Amino acid sequence: MTTQLASQAARPAFRPSDNVAQLKPSATIAVSQLAKALAAQGRDVIDLGAGEPDFPTPEFIVRAAKLALDKGATRYTATEGILPLRQAIADGANALYRGPGGPVLPADVVVSTGSKQSLFNACFVLFGAGDEVLVPTPSWTSYYEMLTLARATAVPVMGDPARGLKVTADELARAATPNTRGVMLNSPCNPTGSVYAADEMAAILALAEEREWWVISDEIYLRIAYGGGDEPCSALEAARSRDRLVVINGVAKAYAMTGWRIGWAVAPRAVASAMGALQSHTTSNAAAVSQHAALAALAQKDEAERAIEHMVARFAERRAAILHALRDAPEVRCVRPDGAFYLFVNVAETARGEADPGAVFARHLLERHDVAVVPGSAFLAPDWVRLSFAAPQEQVVEGVRRLVRAYRELT
Ligand code: PLP
Repeated sequence: MTTQLASQAARPAFRPSDNVAQLKPSATIAVSQLAKALAAQGRDVIDLGAGEPDFPTPEFIVRAAKLALDKGATRYTATEGILPLRQAIADGANALYRGPGGPVLPADVVVSTGSKQSLFNACFVLFGAGDEVLVPTPSWTSYYEMLTLARATAVPVMGDPARGLKVTADELARAATPNTRGVMLNSPCNPTGSVYAADEMAAILALAEEREWWVISDEIYLRIAYGGGDEPCSALEAARSRDRLVVINGVAKAYAMTGWRIGWAVAPRAVASAMGALQSHTTSNAAAVSQHAALAALAQKDEAERAIEHMVARFAERRAAILHALRDAPEVRCVRPDGAFYLFVNVAETARGEADPGAVFARHLLERHDVAVVPGSAFLAPDWVRLSFAAPQEQVVEGVRRLVRAYRELT
C-alpha cells in the first residue's frame, strides 16, 4: 500500500499527450487577457489587441434569434446545420461561382461552431503526417497550430513588405516540394489588412490547380474593405474549378456576431461529408439558436447590408484617422490596410539585438503607455506588432499617438 502511494506521488500529475505537445496558446487572446487584468487593477488601458468588432449584433438578428427560441429552436439539428441556412450559404456561393461542376448545393456546405472550427475540420480531413502546407506569412496564428494538430507541416512563405507582405504565385511555387499538398489563403488578411487583387488570387489558384494542391480560402474579412486599393475577391470568383477548393466564411466579423459562433465551409461533396463526419464525433451541430440568427443575417439582405455599411463606414473613419495621425511620423512604417481592421506596424528599428523586437515593443507599450497590441511573433513576423482598430475612434487615435511616442523612445 505504502509503496503504491509513493510511486503514485512520484508520477507527474499531468504530461500533455503527443497530440498537443507542440501546441501554443493563442497569443492574441493572451494579450487581451493581460490588458483586462491591468484594467481590473485600475489602469486606464487602451486595448487594441482584440480581433472583434466593437459593435453590438444588429437588432434584427437578435430579434430573429429570440423568435427562434420562442418557436423551440432548442434541440439538436442536423450535424451539418439547418437546411435553410445551408441553402442561403449555397445561394451566396452560387452568386460568386460560375465554374464547372454545377451549382453549390446544401450538401456541399457544413456549418460549424465558428469559422475556426470550419478551418480546423478542413485542415484535419485534408492533411496528415508528411504533408506540407504553404502558409503565406504573416498570417493568422491558428493556421500553424491547426496544421500541426493535423500532424501536417506548416511551411511559412514570407511576403514582401514592398507588396504589403503578400506572396506571389511564383514565391509559392519556389517554396513547394514534392510533399506540398495545399495552401492556406486569407484575403483580406489578418494581421496585415492586405487584400489580394483578383489577378493575384487567380494566379495562385491556377498554380494550385496545376499542382493538384488543396486550397483553403479563409474569407472571414471579405466584406470589410475600404476601396481605393485592391478590392477583395472570393476564391469562388477567381477559381476555374472548385474541385480542390474549400472556402471558409462566417458571421463573426461582417455581422458583429463573434459570440454566436457560426462559421461554415463550402467544399467539394466528399470533403464536406468527411468534415460533417468529423464534426458528428466532436461537437455535433453548432448552437441551434445561433444558426437561426445567422440565417436572419444572410436572408434579410437589406437590413444586413445597411448594418454592414454602417460598421464598415466606422472602420473606414478610424483607418483614415490613423493614417492621418501617422503622416507626422513617417519613420513608423506600416502596411496600408485595404481590408479587415488591423494595422501592422514594423518595429524592427526599435530592436536592440533581441530576437523578438515586436514582443519587447508590445511590452513597453503596455507597461509604460497602457496600450495593448499583439506582437508580430504571433503571426511569425517578430519585427512587427498588430494594432486592431475595432475600438472607439478616440481610443484608436490616442493609442496610435502613444505608439508613436513609444517608437521614438526606443529608436
Ligand atoms: N479567420 C481569421 C483570419 C480570423 O482572424 C478569425 C478570428 O479572429 C477567424 C478566422 C475565426 O473566426 P470565428 O469567430 O468565426 O471562429
